[in-house]
Amino acid sequence: MTADMPARQGASLRLDKTTFSYGQTRLAFDAEFPAGEITAVMGPSGSGKSTLLNLVAGFEIPLSGHVLINGLDFSAASPSERPVSMVFQENNLFAHLDVFRNVGLGISPSLALTAADRMAIADALARTGLTGKEKRLPRELSGGERQRVALARALVRDRPVLLLDEPFASLGPALREDMLDLVAAVQAERKMTTLFVTHQPEDARRVAAHVVFLENGTVAATGRAHDFFSANGPAAFRRYAGAMNGE
Ligand code: ADP
Ligand code: MG
Repeated sequence: MTADMPARQGASLRLDKTTFSYGQTRLAFDAEFPAGEITAVMGPSGSGKSTLLNLVAGFEIPLSGHVLINGLDFSAASPSERPVSMVFQENNLFAHLDVFRNVGLGISPSLALTAADRMAIADALARTGLTGKEKRLPRELSGGERQRVALARALVRDRPVLLLDEPFASLGPALREDMLDLVAAVQAERKMTTLFVTHQPEDARRVAAHVVFLENGTVAATGRAHDFFSANGPAAFRRYAGAMNGE
């Protein structure tokens, strides 16, 4: 089992009858995520979106079932053994490390960086518009810049699966659109199999090819984004999107 899979083709990703529980709260996911594409993971608060991502990343281990990446069983592997990187809604960064080092952690937890690693970090910083801010500490950055650093760290890891858990939820609409376009551009280049959790149907519409819709700890509907957002989309999703729009 190796974490060093090439990212360019994307990886197939499947949750094969995985179950999980937090005490009385039971979750069960059976879903396949198209290789090399962006899937929006949507659903009401508490429906299990973060838990689903945590099962893929290895921060949670399923009670039963399997996490399959390119057909290999990673169900019991630690997060660092998985060909996965994750960006959280917040608290992605170490407060006492500057931007360059925070990104470098994506390559080496001990920050033992080669010349090639340093170039990869500089590239990722350029890609995310952070050149010149290498020496800043997280508190010296805006919220949007901090999320760019988190994204840059995910980019240097160059893993075939990218998990984004409401990464831009705290940003205003204009900045969020910029960040979404950046994610979409990088994903189009590298073809990571990407799971993108968002509350905002318009964000999903902007970047996602597919949608997985969760309710009560399980998959309530899946489909192509185009179909989901049409008037004939799944009833459960239409109710949710209608409520989001205040209808
Ligand atoms: P979402 O990300 O869709 O808001 P979560 O995956 O965070 O949902 O949570 C799914 C369910 O699991 C919710 O009912 C939530 O209250 C519960 N849950 C999540 N994390 C914990 C935890 N650490 N301890 C106990 N229950 C939790
Ligand atoms: Mg969540």
